[in-house]
Amino acid sequence: MALRFYNTLTQRVEEFAPTDGKTVRMYTCGPTVYHFVHIGNFRTFTFQDVLRRWLRAHGWQLDHVMNITDVEDKIIRSAMEERKSLREYTAVYEKAFIEDSVALRLERAERLVRATEHISEMVQAVEQLSEKGFTYKSDGSVYYRIANFPEYGKLSHSDFSGIRAGARVDVDEYEKADARDFVLWKARKNGEPGWETPLGAGRPGWHIECSVMAMKYLGETLDIHAGGVDLIFPHHENEIAQSEAITGKPFSRFWLHSEHLIVEGQKMSKSLGNFFTLRDLLERGYSPESIRYLLASVPYRKKLNFTFEGLKAAQTSIERLRNYKLRLDTEKFGEGGNEKIQERTETALRLFNDSLDDDLNTAEALAAIFEFVRDTNSSMDAGEFRAGNVGSALALLARFDSVFDVLRPTVMTQAVTDGDVEALIAERAAARKRRDFRRSDEIRNELLERGIVLEDTKEGVRWKRR
Ligand code: AMP
Ligand code: ZN
Repeated sequence: MALRFYNTLTQRVEEFAPTDGKTVRMYTCGPTVYHFVHIGNFRTFTFQDVLRRWLRAHGWQLDHVMNITDVEDKIIRSAMEERKSLREYTAVYEKAFIEDSVALRLERAERLVRATEHISEMVQAVEQLSEKGFTYKSDGSVYYRIANFPEYGKLSHSDFSGIRAGARVDVDEYEKADARDFVLWKARKNGEPGWETPLGAGRPGWHIECSVMAMKYLGETLDIHAGGVDLIFPHHENEIAQSEAITGKPFSRFWLHSEHLIVEGQKMSKSLGNFFTLRDLLERGYSPESIRYLLASVPYRKKLNFTFEGLKAAQTSIERLRNYKLRLDTEKFGEGGNEKIQERTETALRLFNDSLDDDLNTAEALAAIFEFVRDTNSSMDAGEFRAGNVGSALALLARFDSVFDVLRPTVMTQAVTDGDVEALIAERAAARKRRDFRRSDEIRNELLERGIVLEDTKEGVRWKRR
């Protein structure tokens, strides 16, 4: 079956392939680096990682641009409060974002680009918009006149025809009810950081950076543009208005938006204060893989309700898969192959692929894997699973892991003491004695995750640090 995505622009599920049949040109809105990125943001970035991996599984290459928003209202306010330059202020959070992304195994975009390094291109874009009659000046700032772009509202599917012409907003973020002419270039106010440009001293509004960086690197029409649902309006609506006014061409063929991660019914956000960063959760002893798994497990267009039970369940699910893989790797199976099990494996692979092709239905894809694991574990217990079935079962797990990427344990930097290791080894020995192999495998995996390798010898268990 062909790959299909729900396109916010057309409000339909459509078949996807890149324009040139080879390379997917994709733009995603990256973080605003005014604080540590929270796991709500990472839900969106994890969805984009799954998307990247699945596009590649189709044999396409990627040219993916992600921006770093390093100049914007909140950043300027915070940097001024701390008496720091923009760069000094944002460097800390940009670095943290990259480290956290690595911990979550998010593939790096082919190009990670900073807004502040594209100021002259933004100025040029504003000048182009002015030449085409889409702007006006007021108090030194330049605004986009949305009344001149009749298609304004086509992404958020809102009718803005009744809005008051000439009413303006200066803030970067605002509600739908506030649809007004938005700012492209903000004149410098008392002591704010800014740039001296032909437009005057000042700084860009938030929206222009994405139009400019997307088209600079990817051309006038993208294959995919993605972000969280909160960006549909005003940010992406404004990107379309800017880009299409300049080029007269569709800005992006596909628009993909991920739903929010919520906590007790509310969006996780910095302003509500109901957020966890990745660092918070690692400090509480959760592994990056379990967070990655949790974030990826709910299909991106459904809200994900964050709970610690959910996180623990994610850890258990990963352990089940690791134990299954350990069993495939270490158990001695009878010779030959079992045809039925071979067919069972092929069915699971087909279900897995079809589910992800269906607008990245990760929940169904996971269900296909877990049902397969349950069935083949039973076949192993019944002695029906053969040595000849191991290869394709491992290949299925590898296919799963090329997208979900959770089987390899993260070596936690938090050191375990020798005493901790000895205690766990003793507990494992006790578990083996009462033939509780599940628990003993769990302990082996847990130690492995923390960089401790066990070796069973005639003289007893030896261990070393990796
Ligand atoms: P920001 O740093 O606020 O510009 O957000 C970066 C990305 O995270 C954007 O694509 C947002 O739509 C997304 N985002 C923000 N809050 C959440 C949330 N609670 N759940 C999922 N995605 C979010
Ligand atoms: Zn953007």
